[in-house]
Amino acid sequence: MMQAITILGSTGSVGKSTLDVVSRHPTKFKVAALTANNNHELLLEQCVVFQPELVVMVCDQAASNLQASLKVKGLSHIQVESGVDALINAAVTPSCDTVMSAIVGAAGLLPTLEAVRAGKRTLIANKEPLVMTGDLFMREAKRSGASVLPIDSEHNAIFQCMPQDQTKKGVRRLHLTASGGPFLGRVWSELANITPEQACAHPNWSMGQKISVDSATMMNKGLELIEATALFNIPANNVEVVVHPQSIIHSMVEYLDGSFLAQLGAPDMRIPIAHALSWPERIESGAATLDITEIGKLNFQRPDMVNMPCLRLAREAAEQGGALPIVLNASNEVAVAAFLNKEIPFTSIANVISNTMQALSDLAVDDLESVLNIDNEARVVAARALDSASW
Ligand code: NAD
Ligand code: MG
Repeated sequence: MMQAITILGSTGSVGKSTLDVVSRHPTKFKVAALTANNNHELLLEQCVVFQPELVVMVCDQAASNLQASLKVKGLSHIQVESGVDALINAAVTPSCDTVMSAIVGAAGLLPTLEAVRAGKRTLIANKEPLVMTGDLFMREAKRSGASVLPIDSEHNAIFQCMPQDQTKKGVRRLHLTASGGPFLGRVWSELANITPEQACAHPNWSMGQKISVDSATMMNKGLELIEATALFNIPANNVEVVVHPQSIIHSMVEYLDGSFLAQLGAPDMRIPIAHALSWPERIESGAATLDITEIGKLNFQRPDMVNMPCLRLAREAAEQGGALPIVLNASNEVAVAAFLNKEIPFTSIANVISNTMQALSDLAVDDLESVLNIDNEARVVAARALDSASW
């Protein structure tokens, strides 16, 4: 049967890779809806090729531009909506079976949660919503019966290595691999003059700007640690991080008997995307075959927690739980945006997060409303912390 897919964030790195996989299997997949923030030119190209029923742009002006261009191309039958609420329409539209959640940051929370509540098969690349709502998110999935399939390469690897029924039967620990990013081996305090261009130049993966900076600070692995505790319902102290610079082993599951199961592959997001789109079957992803003899050696080392302050803060948030993961995520988004705008030095990202966590350590989280309130409050406190962190 044809699977109809909505892609939230189709103009981003994961969104484009998803469309690449979809285009390789025209008899299996079709596109129900596409969404983007403001890149109407690329969304137009995607409309021409994939002919969705609905497109949503967050920016009103970009939506008007897109509508005008669609008319010129004779594609006026494609419905165009704009605004944040319309993202939810795209996520729950009855004609879609599967939602790829590939917006960056907390902006993806509400549409992704609504997709899960509507019982859609939901593919999670956008890790920030899981970091913010953890158990609540997974509870909603259980209630609606929605399948939640991880796209983040580490979590997709773990999913593939877990027992088939996805219980934790016999599992001792999870090992998340981390490339270490572009500054592996460097002393943190000596990174103050790093530019956004240097921080975004990841050695193995080509990704959006925010996750590239997160990879350079190691916050990405910290967010993934929290993501893993939610997805696999496992305590943070049973999730290890191991630095593996080649990014060939995408993560490992350690069993009680001493067995380790690992998933290997080229560092190409089309592999986890194809896996999740077709699960439980397998399809071609377009990724190059891995030649392990070419690679020759795989290296592993413990993370240097002294020079990875963001990973340290994330582990603290993961272990303490409560409001801290929400505060960590929100203050990180504020700090990374300020760094990309050249308002604060690279190394101040950790200070902004640490100050915000200290200021907001004991807020209670009961429901979605409290999550959104804490997220807001943390953004206000972090914005204030930027002043003392600026150049
Ligand atoms: P990206 O910046 O390349 O793309 C982001 C997409 O979200 C774009 O389509 C953009 O239009 C849309 N968007 C941005 N801000 C928005 C907003 N406020 N409201 C609605 N839409 C908005 O990002 P990416 O690298 O594709 O990453 C997307 C998510 O997937 C992130 O959460 C990231 O952590 C996760 N992820 C990415 C990769 C990767 O290889 N790129 C790997 C694993 C996980
Ligand atoms: Mg990852």
